[in-house]
Amino acid sequence: AKEHGRNNYQLYTPEMNTKAVERLSLENSLRKAIEREEFVLHYQPKVNVEHGQISCMEALVRWQHPTLGVVPPARFIPLAEETGLIVPLGEWVLRTACRQNKEWQDIGYPPMQIAVNLSPRQLQPGKTVAMVEAALRDSRLDPHWLVLEITESVLMAGDEATVEIFRYLERLGVQIAIDDFGIGYSSLYYLKKFPVHTLKIDRSFIRDIASNPDDEAITSAVISMAHGLNLKVVAEGVETVDQLEVLRSLKCRYMQGYLFSRPMPADQVVPMFGRAAES
Ligand code: C2E
Ligand code: CA
Ligand code: CA
Ligand code: CA
Repeated sequence: AKEHGRNNYQLYTPEMNTKAVERLSLENSLRKAIEREEFVLHYQPKVNVEHGQISCMEALVRWQHPTLGVVPPARFIPLAEETGLIVPLGEWVLRTACRQNKEWQDIGYPPMQIAVNLSPRQLQPGKTVAMVEAALRDSRLDPHWLVLEITESVLMAGDEATVEIFRYLERLGVQIAIDDFGIGYSSLYYLKKFPVHTLKIDRSFIRDIASNPDDEAITSAVISMAHGLNLKVVAEGVETVDQLEVLRSLKCRYMQGYLFSRPMPADQVVPMFGRAAES
């Protein structure tokens, strides 16, 4: 029995222990960070390449940790999702983004859309719609200037109650974009069921598009299908002129990526308006 006990004990290696402790401490500081509003939004443009103007800004959250510095979302969004902390955090993101967009409009810059990422955990019948309506009402932003980005996993899990949420949001005038399109599956069936306005082709298809004929063929097919369904297409992660040219030849009108701009803080967005946004 002693032997057995020791073996059991050894299942918990020092390394695992450290990870668990780290996780717990990260969870605790995440909880406090939400109370203290240690977050900031950066904004990355989606460009209409037909006339080079900004059609939309995507809000991407950053955590300004008092000692760790800027923590990227990959390090805390998954934890926020697991713990449910994404619900209050996501609401803060939505409210802040709507308010910021209205502020830009009030200054007199050409209006453009603001896109906000929504986690599956944030989709709760009765709550999601109320949250979106409150954010729009309090910011006085017209719903047509708001885009909600959801991933295919939301579509796949999409029960009737979830579909209803999106139908309601669509009636409000809010637009829905499918993020990271192409890396999940069953997407085509769910496109029929959901009121979707935009497909964002995942960066993994764009990365090698200038050298890999398969990636080009897949992207080309997605663009044709989307246009046939009257959907906008955004290519994500465009970094080079070669990628831009291939995408242009495939009639992709909207692009986002480091080639145009990295995500930037709000005070750096303002000077960009010099290049007049699209209405
Ligand atoms: P995403 O929604 O797919 O956002 C695009 C990510 O790709 C961003 O990373 C952006 O900085 C990065 N990116 C943009 N252009 C390029 C490019 O040309 N090359 C490369 N290599 N990367 C590019 P970021 O800001 O680190 O965000 C990562 C992910 O975290 C997001 O992926 C999204 O899933 C999640 N996220 C960020 N903010 C929020 C939020 O407010 N709520 C939720 N639920 N998720 C968020
Ligand atoms: Ca996104
Ligand atoms: Ca994406
Ligand atoms: Ca992503």
